[in-house]
Amino acid sequence: MTSLPDITSSWAPAPAEPAPGVAVRTAARVFFERFGTAPRWLAVAPGRVNLIGEHTDYNGGYVLPLAIDRHVVIAAAPARGDGARLRAYSAALDQSVDIRLDGSEPPGEPAWANYLRGVVRAFGERGLIAGSIDAAIVSDLPLGGGLSSSAALEVATATLLEEATGATLDPQDKARLCRQAEHDFAGVPCGVMDQVASVIGDAAGALLIDCRSGDVRVIPFADPGVSVLICNTNMKHALADSAYARRVTECAEASRRLGVSSLRDATPAMVESANGTLDAVVARRARHVTTENMRTLAAATHLEAREFAEVGHLMYASHRSLRDDFEVSSAELDALVDIAREIGPAGGVLGARMTGGGFGGCTVTLVRTDCVAAVANTLTIEYRKRTGLTATTFVSRPARGAHVLDPLTVV
Ligand code: ADP
Ligand code: MG
Repeated sequence: MTSLPDITSSWAPAPAEPAPGVAVRTAARVFFERFGTAPRWLAVAPGRVNLIGEHTDYNGGYVLPLAIDRHVVIAAAPARGDGARLRAYSAALDQSVDIRLDGSEPPGEPAWANYLRGVVRAFGERGLIAGSIDAAIVSDLPLGGGLSSSAALEVATATLLEEATGATLDPQDKARLCRQAEHDFAGVPCGVMDQVASVIGDAAGALLIDCRSGDVRVIPFADPGVSVLICNTNMKHALADSAYARRVTECAEASRRLGVSSLRDATPAMVESANGTLDAVVARRARHVTTENMRTLAAATHLEAREFAEVGHLMYASHRSLRDDFEVSSAELDALVDIAREIGPAGGVLGARMTGGGFGGCTVTLVRTDCVAAVANTLTIEYRKRTGLTATTFVSRPARGAHVLDPLTVV
């Protein structure tokens, strides 16, 4: 197994070198070790953290993520050999797969390669078939941590295939293609947020995404005085995927009952007045989605105006709604948010919430930069006291979306 340098606790606001430097160089090295030659391409795709707007994307609503400076990197080069094949090695799992590039490969084992197979299939369907490729995958995103390593893997694969086939996909099309791969090959009925954030990410700020139209607006967020602190519970509960799928079904049920094509078109007042006719659980799910859409739009306005305290209040409200109405939080996520709230504005915390699908994974906390070290410390110590578990914390800043680097310029 090839391990990355331990940077999981690097809360420091300014890393010595801009990401994805370390992961990129590691990928180039791993490629060389396995294939005995230098890579020709380095396809880089970021993960994301969602500031607010959770479980709204598959309801055609609004989300406010930022692409983060942690990535999946695929170092690759054209390969000799018969047929069009992708031979890919994942350093994180220390496993290799061999996939036909003509798109005829069905989902199968190992399961992690389904993210690649699904993207390869979509390229094949468009007649975009590359010659054989050797590839080494290296990542500094946690797998299954709610920071969207799956979308980053899909988007990095698509970025590599663009390069290898000479095609350039429209960014929205590319994001949707990757989402479809996750639906059809990984069986996750996700919205489009993760893939859009990874494709279109912008170092200038967060992305306000209208998940119905696909429109993206960059909300500038480069204030050195405020930092985004990500805290991983390092805990993922079993059955998270089936619970996610159930929420998607419950939301579809709510929109049917409310007579709208998606919950994007419903309001909290509509949900309130339909209370007698909606099943109580379905009503709570709809209340979360409709109020979350409003919170997300409000948060974008406040973020743009640099009203960080207001953004923070909306984050706490989002967490309560996800915990009580949507029921996708966990004891560990609640503990981290509670600790952050207890530290409060006096200790530099402006707001906190769970981020990602839920049932484990990470929280996102808005913190005054001069307090980040102390906050990260208190969160870690208190979390251990309350849960017996070890959290990992790191600061992230907005990052550029997927791109290809020339190995000669980085190695
Ligand atoms: P998240 O997207 O929040 O990290 P998911 O459960 O959606 O969580 O996706 C995690 C899965 O994506 C992993 O279990 C694995 O199958 C795949 N994956 C992500 N990164 C890698 C990687 N570097 N190598 C191999 N598989 C990966
Ligand atoms: Mg994912």
